Amino acid sequence: MNSMPCEREEELAEALRMERWPEGAPRELREHVAECPACTELALVASCLRRDAVAAEGEADLPEAGFVWWKARLVARRAATERAMRPVMVAQKAGLVAGALAAAGLAAWQWPVLKEWLGGPIFPTSSHSSLWMGLLAASLAGTLVVAGIGLYLIWSER
Ligand SMILES: [Zn+2]
Repeated sequence: MNSMPCEREEELAEALRMERWPEGAPRELREHVAECPACTELALVASCLRRDAVAAEGEADLPEAGFVWWKARLVARRAATERAMRPVMVAQKAGLVAGALAAAGLAAWQWPVLKEWLGGPIFPTSSHSSLWMGLLAASLAGTLVVAGIGLYLIWSER
């Protein structure tokens, strides 16, 4: 501030504006700036301003940082949802296994009746008993198919 104005200041300012300082500047200008307090000050201020500009550019990246933050939160939320869903998935699989076991148990328990029905006419007489047995066998078969698909899905997942 206390230095005298220098006639080469304009030349130095031009080099700074064109971002030709210090690498792109002529050697004799650099030598002058090294000895001239006014030009040294100008170069110093200019480099400080440029550093500020670079920092401002970094701040301009805030939306990108916000995007990163948003994405990180999304990933964390997805992981939390997965964690929360895990017991549900286990319960679902346990339910399928239990259903399969129950169906198998029921089939084993009712096997004599079932065998008789399977060995009987394809279209049973419309008596209540055979209709009931037909429904039972159909639901058993359905349960077994669903349970089989479930078990297949469980095993194929591993
Ligand atoms: Zn100077």
